[in-house]
Parts: sequence; C-alpha cells; structure tokens
Amino acid sequence: MNPDNEPQARNEVQPENLNLWHAFLAQVNENQIYFGASQETLEYLRHPKRMVTVSVPARMDDGSVRFFTGYRVQHSISRGPAKGGLRYRAGLNLDEVRGLAAAMTIKCAVMNLPFGGAKGGIDVDPKTLSRSEIERMTRRYTSELVDLIGPDKDIPAPDTGTNEQIMAWIMDTYSQNKGSTVTGVVTGKPVAMGGSLGRVEAPGRGIAYSIFGVASREGISLEKASAAVQGFGMVGRYAALGLFERGVRVVAVSDSSGAIYAHDGLDIPRLLEYKTENGSVLGFHGAKRIDQESLLTLPVDVLVPAVREGAIHAGNAAKVEAQIIAEGANHAITRAADTILEREGRFIIPDYLANSGGVVVSYYEWVQDFNNFYWTEEEIRQNLEQHFTHALESVYALKLERGLNLRQAAFVLAVSRINESTNLRGLYP
Ligand code: GLU
Repeated sequence: MNPDNEPQARNEVQPENLNLWHAFLAQVNENQIYFGASQETLEYLRHPKRMVTVSVPARMDDGSVRFFTGYRVQHSISRGPAKGGLRYRAGLNLDEVRGLAAAMTIKCAVMNLPFGGAKGGIDVDPKTLSRSEIERMTRRYTSELVDLIGPDKDIPAPDTGTNEQIMAWIMDTYSQNKGSTVTGVVTGKPVAMGGSLGRVEAPGRGIAYSIFGVASREGISLEKASAAVQGFGMVGRYAALGLFERGVRVVAVSDSSGAIYAHDGLDIPRLLEYKTENGSVLGFHGAKRIDQESLLTLPVDVLVPAVREGAIHAGNAAKVEAQIIAEGANHAITRAADTILEREGRFIIPDYLANSGGVVVSYYEWVQDFNNFYWTEEEIRQNLEQHFTHALESVYALKLERGLNLRQAAFVLAVSRINESTNLRGLYP
C-alpha cells in the first residue's frame, strides 16, 4: 500500500507554534472588522458543531491488535452537509483536524458549494502498515462513524496519506452497514465505482486556473514566466502539469527524495512518467539536483508550495522572489510570512482559493452519484475552470470595493455567505 498524497507531508512535524485551530481563530479575530457578520455567526465559527474522537482497534498481520486514534470534526453545516478530507498522518491531533475542518467551511463557501466543512483522520503513518492492515483500520474507523457520515450528513474525501482505494473501502463498509450501495458517502473514489473523471487532477488544475486568473486581473503577463513547485504529490504534480500546459516554464520541482532544476524548464508529462517508473524525481534527464529549501527562493515568477503547513515562514519569506505565490498546501504560508510577503508586494493566492479544485470536483462527483449520470472529462474541466472564474470575480469585487488583499477578501466573502445562511436558518428551537 502506498498512499500517494503529498509523500513529504506524512512524517513532517508541524512547524512549532503552528496550531491550525489557533491560526483559524486568529484569522476570524483579525478580519472581523470587515465582515459585517453578526457576532453570533462569528461564535458559530469559533465553535465546531461536532468533534468526535474514536478508538480504532485493528488486527495486524502478525495477529496482534493495535489501537489507533481517529478523529472527525464537523465544523459547520450551515450551508449544507459537512464536507472534507481524511488524513492519515503520524502525530495528527484534534487541533489540526478542527483547524482544517474550519478551513473547509471557508473553502466551500468561497467556492459557493452547498456544503459546510469537516475534516478527519487517524494518527498513523500509513507507510508503516501493510495494505491489509490499512484496509482493516479504515473499515473499523468507518464503522465507528457510520451514523455520523452519509451523503446528506458528512462526506469524506482523500487528503494527506489517503487515496482512492481507501475511499472505496469506506464506501463499501458504509454500504454494507446500511444494506444498500451508497456511492455518495465519499468522494475521490475510483472512477470504476462512482468516482468522477478529472477528480485526481482537480486540486492541481485549480491551482493553475487561479494563478492565471489572478495574473490577468493584476495585469501580470505569464507569457515567458517561470515557476517552481514544491511537492510532486497529487497536488503539486498536477499544478506543475497545469502550468506546463499553459506554457509556463516549470524550472524546479521537489519530492520527498529531493529537488531538481532545469533552467530551460522540465518536460512535466515526461517527468510524471519518470516519477511513476522510478518513484522519485531525482535523476531526471537534463535536470540537476538542488537543495530542497532553495527551491522556495529561486528567481521565478510563480511559486507553488504544495507540501505542508508552514513551508514559508518568517525565516525564509524575505528571500522568496516569486511575484505570485499560490498556496497548494493548506496554511503553506505562516501568518508572519504573510506579512513579510505582503510588504514585499507579492501576490498571495490563499489556500481557500488556490487548492479548492479538489472539493469543487468532489461536489461534481456527489451530484453525479445522486443522479447516477456521469459527465465527460471535458465537461468536468470546463465546469471547473468556470467555477474558478466565478469565484475569482466575487473575490475581486470585494477586494476592490474594500481595499483588501486576496486572503482577506476570500475570507470575508466566505463569512458573509455563511452569515446569510446562518441567519436565514435561525436558531433551533
Ligand atoms: N482534502 C481536500 C481538501 O482539503 C479535498 C476535500 C474534499 O474533496 O472534500 O480540499
């Protein structure tokens, strides 16, 4: 078993002081002067609807039983069922999960999807388990949550350390418990059993769409632009491909084994094949090895940190030369780094916008599952691009009207939408 999402992120300890829940609360507090939302709505954001911790006993191949800790946080259901990924990561804790669940609430609202926000996962390094151990652990985790998840309640999806196969096991376990096949309980499933075409590439493609959308609105030409992409997992590799296909010279990429550089640009489709064959980007023809950390400070026009939280921090932000930085990974830029980059006049495309392609196509998958009618890859791509165009239009309207930066504008737009639905629904009883 080799879960393929963002391999570098799996064993990485979060940078010190980067508590994702506290980072979210700080964002709510900092921006509240712009919201125009009621204090009550802000309190909803500060109080996740439901937080569940479960013990997950699973039989190991040697016959012993190991106990894992699993989480699921449903942060908000104000705009629809809770939605968000599932990560398997050593050291996962409740603050990380609820911080990311809150981020999903914001992300879904920015993209105007009829979802609230959720996140979950298990404190485990999946690399240390066999395929059948991961299957048994996943099925037990699912059965612990079987009454809390569902297509109209809470819909998990892949995230760091999880993949399509894990979604298939969750769907099967849920369906066995319910007595009928329920494809819509998870998204990011294999296409052969209710998944959507284009879902795998969606987070990466969305990053490319958002970069081109922001560049054109800011009057920046990307015609001869160069880019560096940190991470060649499921997000980074398709961000690199999306940029390459639009004529950007992708000069550097990295994965868990190291970073490579080629001044004239890397042939990304060939590099994808090379990575599949060799398991690493190192040794790719015509590229030289560079230091992983130096990838972030290369003299490029576009930078995509797509590996982990806090990749750009107070210690390296001033050395970043890229004009546009798109957060491929959630919280890739710390708040201190954000201030430094802002001062230097860089354009930051926040995670809420940049990496939301995955959940947008998850939404398409959920809709297709309800209808049992599936769209072509071309339809998915066109819809996704249009979805980004609409989201950017709304974010830019607020940005210009209120003089905000992109991160603030996206956040304020999301909160205003959540505020509207919260008020319309009212308080029960
Ligand atoms: N894990 C992805 C994210 O953080 C996808 C979530 C989803 O599709 O529900 O955006």
